Amino acid sequence: MTTQTTTTSNGQVPDWTPDSWRSKPIKQCPEYPDKAALAKAVSELKRLPPIVHPREIIELKQHLRDVAQGKAFLLQGGDCAELFDYCEQNAIESKIKLLLQMSLVLLWGANKRVVRIGRMAGQYAKPRSSPMETIDGRQVPSFRGDILNGYHPDERELDPDRLVKAYYHSSATLNYARAAISSGIADLSRPLDWSLGHVRDPVLKAKYEKAVDFLKDMRDFLHTIGAENEKFHTVDLFTSHEGLLLEYEQPLTRLLDDPTAPPSAPRKEYYNTSAHFLWIGDRTRQLDHAHVEYFRGIANPLGVKVGPSTPASDLLALLRTLNPAREPGKITLITRYGADKVASLLPAHIRTVEDSEYAGTVVWQCDPMHGNTQSVGGGIKTRRFSDIFSELQQTLRIHKEQGSYLGGVHLELTGDPVTECLGGSEGLAEDDLSTNYTSFCDPRLNEKQALELAFLIADHYRT
Ligand code: PEP
Ligand code: MN
Repeated sequence: MTTQTTTTSNGQVPDWTPDSWRSKPIKQCPEYPDKAALAKAVSELKRLPPIVHPREIIELKQHLRDVAQGKAFLLQGGDCAELFDYCEQNAIESKIKLLLQMSLVLLWGANKRVVRIGRMAGQYAKPRSSPMETIDGRQVPSFRGDILNGYHPDERELDPDRLVKAYYHSSATLNYARAAISSGIADLSRPLDWSLGHVRDPVLKAKYEKAVDFLKDMRDFLHTIGAENEKFHTVDLFTSHEGLLLEYEQPLTRLLDDPTAPPSAPRKEYYNTSAHFLWIGDRTRQLDHAHVEYFRGIANPLGVKVGPSTPASDLLALLRTLNPAREPGKITLITRYGADKVASLLPAHIRTVEDSEYAGTVVWQCDPMHGNTQSVGGGIKTRRFSDIFSELQQTLRIHKEQGSYLGGVHLELTGDPVTECLGGSEGLAEDDLSTNYTSFCDPRLNEKQALELAFLIADHYRT
């Protein structure tokens, strides 16, 4: 059993160090053959500056407190496996624009401020169900994400230099995202492309057009009365990734001043400076294992994936270990059961948390992607838009029935016109999947499907 901890007066967690995870059993851990090269990469990471600042991390935690309390909505999205190649102007811009556009629709629908977190600038490590796979009759190690090995079958050896490459690609991605945002890419007074030509269903189309007209009118109205201020031209975008590869997370974990502490009583905390928000995946959330041990010591807001294999009793133990001070918004529970299981599993998970001392402290977020993956036609991984929407709709309904608040969604999406998920208003069929299937891991919603999901969530709130 994990021991219950509380923070000490200087903000640090007792019996914890950035490397205390090393004494615990660990899942999904790479065995690097070249230990000297690993040590060199890790010491280089230790020397480099933080990628994000504690002030931003705290700011996000404050936004998430608002989400936990039902005052804001959280939109988190991006690729399943981010590649170093996505560190490129168009890919970054299209993702930011899509998240912005979706958040406008959600803002209109839920009538709440929207907090945006990209699964980007660091989402490079992937858990795998099997260490090996067969390609062209040859057994090769599975692709574990660009931070570990390469997708090409000849590049599957673990390469520690990729840890440092991940740092630079993460920094370059975030640098351009910040530059683009501060230069007005997200300027709400700019026209956005709302083309709805692909929507075949006339009832849906009319609904979406109504939303778009409203958003355009609101923009014009604010412009007319001169209500545009600086906030109107820029938006916040926070970054996140699965905290899977602790060899990367540890050297970027720094003991830094807590920016909220008064000058008369300075405090230091350990911050993971590789991203604002990190989550623990479905395969690595064992209570007495290394990942939970590492994450209990850092001050960042954290996500925990919760699925069919999560016993209700583990939920409270996880919250007590990861958030002993019961800070509202510190923990986001990212639920991912599948459309056919959510109704039987989510209510008990909600009751466990909301009937405990953690009532009202967590952000409940729905990931309608990961419980709905299936293989079609000779092993192509896909997801049906209808299953994704069904899990989301059931989750919204169940939270309403239980008197809890669904605070957000967690989506795998891309701004590119990919053909990876089935259905949606374009009516993508199995035969269409090969047209533009470019994911190196799980299937993502394309721009139209992602926007449509935002419209459907908005519609739920408005009806
Ligand atoms: C993911 O978010 O890409 C993922 C692997 O999810 P999960 O841990 O929920 O399976
Ligand atoms: Mn995924």
